[in-house]
Amino acid sequence: MTDWEVYALRYATHEDRVARENFTRPIDLHDAPMPMDYFFWVLRQGHRVIVVDTGFSAEVAKARKRPLTRTVAEALTQLGIEPGTVEDVIITHLHHDHAGNLDLFPNAQFHIQDAEIAFATGRYMGASCIRYPFEIEDVVRIVRAVYAEQVTFHDGDSELTPGVCLHKVGGHTGGMQMVSVSTARGRVVLASDACHYYANMQQQNPFVIFFDIGQMVQGWRLARQLAPSEDHIIPGHDPAVRRRFPAVTGSSGETVALHLPPNV
Ligand SMILES: [Zn+2]
Repeated sequence: MTDWEVYALRYATHEDRVARENFTRPIDLHDAPMPMDYFFWVLRQGHRVIVVDTGFSAEVAKARKRPLTRTVAEALTQLGIEPGTVEDVIITHLHHDHAGNLDLFPNAQFHIQDAEIAFATGRYMGASCIRYPFEIEDVVRIVRAVYAEQVTFHDGDSELTPGVCLHKVGGHTGGMQMVSVSTARGRVVLASDACHYYANMQQQNPFVIFFDIGQMVQGWRLARQLAPSEDHIIPGHDPAVRRRFPAVTGSSGETVALHLPPNV
């Protein structure tokens, strides 16, 4: 049995945002509202839980003016998950909205690409235009986790456990990775920030933050190869995800089930 349950959990939002902030190339209706949601993801199979990304803290939410809808710990608790018991956490990349709160997971191994740690600690961090989505304390924290033997490095594609695969794509950052997961409705691809919004991929118009635009395009192609349909590709920040998939009871629509068929 390799099928997993997969959940998207929203923890923050940025309502006051317009379309031109989400695309590299000029677009029509560039002043139209286009809010951004912030998610992390949970994979569950019986008692086994894998967390994908770890959000940001209340302090970072305040500093960056991205209000939390709930904390990552609250979101996990609502699904009946005690963070301290989680043994595997996949970090898709080290930007502030994906790699905070690591202290919530004292018993976890953090799975990350070699290239991402090299990127976040290397020469390009000397440039503010590349550095600004990172929080230095998150990067220092992951280095501490390396020294504490809490990091499992991956180089390229690998199967973490039956039904859960990591796919290095780069593009958005130096070592960005996607996650594909076997579910009862087929393989779900958690693109994370390999694709922020469905529209980035559909219109071939990348989100404004990228390290390598060619790798970004290759990431979209890979997502489409891996997924049986577009409904199996889950972008990292699109509010449409919460409309498209069934809400988990009691979550007020903040947590949706990606292993179930889409609403329409
Ligand atoms: Zn992000």
